[in-house]
Amino acid sequence: MSKTPSFDKDRDYIGFATLPEQVHRKSVKRGFEFTMMVVGESGLGKSTLINSLFLGDLYKNRQLPNVEERIEKTTRVEKKTMDIEERGVRLRLTVVDTPGFGDAINCEDSWRVCTQYIDEQFRQYFTDESGLNRRNIQDNRVHCCLYFVPPWGHSLRQMDLDLIRRLHRKVNIVLVIGKADCLNKGEVRKLKERILQDLEDNHIQLYQFPECDSDEDDDFKQQDRELKASIPFAVVGSNTILEVAGKKVRGRQYPWGVVNVEDAEHSDFIKLRTFLISTHMQDLKDTTQDVHYENFRAQCISQISQHALRERGKLKRDSISSTNGFDAAISETDRLLLQKDEEIRRMQDMLTQMQEKLKQTHLMEMKKNDSVIDV
Ligand code: GDP
Repeated sequence: MSKTPSFDKDRDYIGFATLPEQVHRKSVKRGFEFTMMVVGESGLGKSTLINSLFLGDLYKNRQLPNVEERIEKTTRVEKKTMDIEERGVRLRLTVVDTPGFGDAINCEDSWRVCTQYIDEQFRQYFTDESGLNRRNIQDNRVHCCLYFVPPWGHSLRQMDLDLIRRLHRKVNIVLVIGKADCLNKGEVRKLKERILQDLEDNHIQLYQFPECDSDEDDDFKQQDRELKASIPFAVVGSNTILEVAGKKVRGRQYPWGVVNVEDAEHSDFIKLRTFLISTHMQDLKDTTQDVHYENFRAQCISQISQHALRERGKLKRDSISSTNGFDAAISETDRLLLQKDEEIRRMQDMLTQMQEKLKQTHLMEMKKNDSVIDV
């Protein structure tokens, strides 16, 4: 419980130790926003898992497309928002679902829907940030992409590699093996190993867990090690409550027994939930802001300044080719030129600042690999 700061004049401290509490109070008042994109072919248990994770019913009115609709369409983005509250802390969760991914016969362009959606949110944020009312910007940027891999198959498919390669510089990707109750322990281990190998061979970088601080307690360090060792998370989802040994659990009832979704022996569900909600939600948001959005912003500013340079060149050419006699026209051209010069100077200053910042956020490391950014 936080103490109310007193007006006591005789106290022997200044009072800035309450800063964390002030920040905490302000953040709680404002509430939190988190947007997650879910990608994977339909039927892999995506909606079930999201509902299990957030104990909600985000998909209760869902209508499944029929076969023709599924073959016709490539991918379609569906956005759902739910407001959750836990011990006075409000979270506005948005789930961006791409239901038909992988269903259509021709999947070549499926990735475009995902990358376009992510870029659109970045672009909107960029516009809002440059606008007049910057105080109430709604953050719809995608903070995390849960990418579902099927449990059948031996590793990632070419289609998965193509899509992940196009996304990994734009969003934090967290890989999830869906319906993991289809696999036994050895099969899960092998599949995870092959997936990690594939990612390495293709120079794909998923969300990087931050290093655990050395002053954290041993339990936290152990939990951090276990989380890192579990990637990609092999999960089982269920929204059915069953009674096992007198305890109510989320599980899947089979003729031969019950899969307890929350049992670490049965699946990585609890690890995924801990990672996503309890330990790394803020880091996912920070990485989105500091790495992916900065990357996008740098490219935007570079394009704007190039455009301004071209405009300036055009204006100069126009002024030279125009007749020399009209003072008014010349002074108008000069004014525009000065304006453009000033604009370019501002853009270049911003660009230099951003490049410095990007250096610090490991962009140089990331640029080793190919980058696909559609600005
Ligand atoms: P989505 O299309 O990817 O959103 O998949 P759904 O969540 O709608 O699930 C499709 C079907 O798979 C439903 O019948 C679910 O009950 C079932 N299902 C969901 N999660 C799991 C799981 O972890 N294991 C198994 N075996 N079935 C699951």
